[in-house]
Amino acid sequence: TLHVGVMQELGCKLITVGDSKVGKTSVSRQFTDNKFSYQATPTIGMECHVRIMNVSSKLVTVKIWDTAGQERFRSMTVGYYRGAKGVIFVYDITKRKTFEHVKSWCRIFDEWGDKDAEKMLVGNKCDLEEERQVEMEEGEKLAKDLGMMFHETSAKDDVNVTEVFMKLLGKIINRV
Ligand code: GDP
Ligand code: MG
Repeated sequence: TLHVGVMQELGCKLITVGDSKVGKTSVSRQFTDNKFSYQATPTIGMECHVRIMNVSSKLVTVKIWDTAGQERFRSMTVGYYRGAKGVIFVYDITKRKTFEHVKSWCRIFDEWGDKDAEKMLVGNKCDLEEERQVEMEEGEKLAKDLGMMFHETSAKDDVNVTEVFMKLLGKIINRV
C-alpha cells in the first residue's frame, strides 16, 4: 500500500479596500513578493497577487485581489467583493481624508461583501512619522467601533505586513 500524505488545499480570496494611493498595491506586493517601489504602477483593470503558503498545517493559495485606480466609491463591481473571505481596509496615516473615508468603504463592503468576512483595518506608511496626521489611538478606536482587527504598517520598511496577513488568514483558516 502506498501511503501519501494528503494536505488539505484551500483557496482564499482577500481584497484590499480604500482610497487611491494609500498603499494597497504596495502592502499586497510586499506580502507576496517582498518587493517595494516608490513608482506608482498604474495597472489597468484587475491585478491578483498570489502566495501559496502553509497556514495551520493547511496549504493555502492566497489570492489578494487588487484594483487599479478605480477606487472611487461605488465604482467597483460586486464581483470584486463577492467571495472575499477577508478584507483589508487601508488608509494612509499621513492623509487624514483617507482615514475619514474608511467608514464609507466599510458601508459599501457591508452592502456587497460576505457577511462573515474577517476584517482588518490598516494604517499604512507608518515610516513617515513626521508627516503623521492620524494618531495610532484613533485607528485603534475606529477598528474597535467597526469590530475589526488593527495594525499600522509600512509596506516600504516591511513593518507589520506579515502580521496583518497571518492574523487575517489564521482567523479565516481556523474556521474551515
Ligand atoms: P494604492 O493606490 O492604494 O494601490 O497605493 P500604491 O501601493 O500604489 O502606493 C501609492 C504610493 O505610496 C506609491 O508611490 C508607493 O511607493 C507609496 N507607498 C506605499 N506604501 C508606502 C509606505 O509604507 N511608506 C511610504 N513611505 N510610501 C509608501
Ligand atoms: Mg493600487
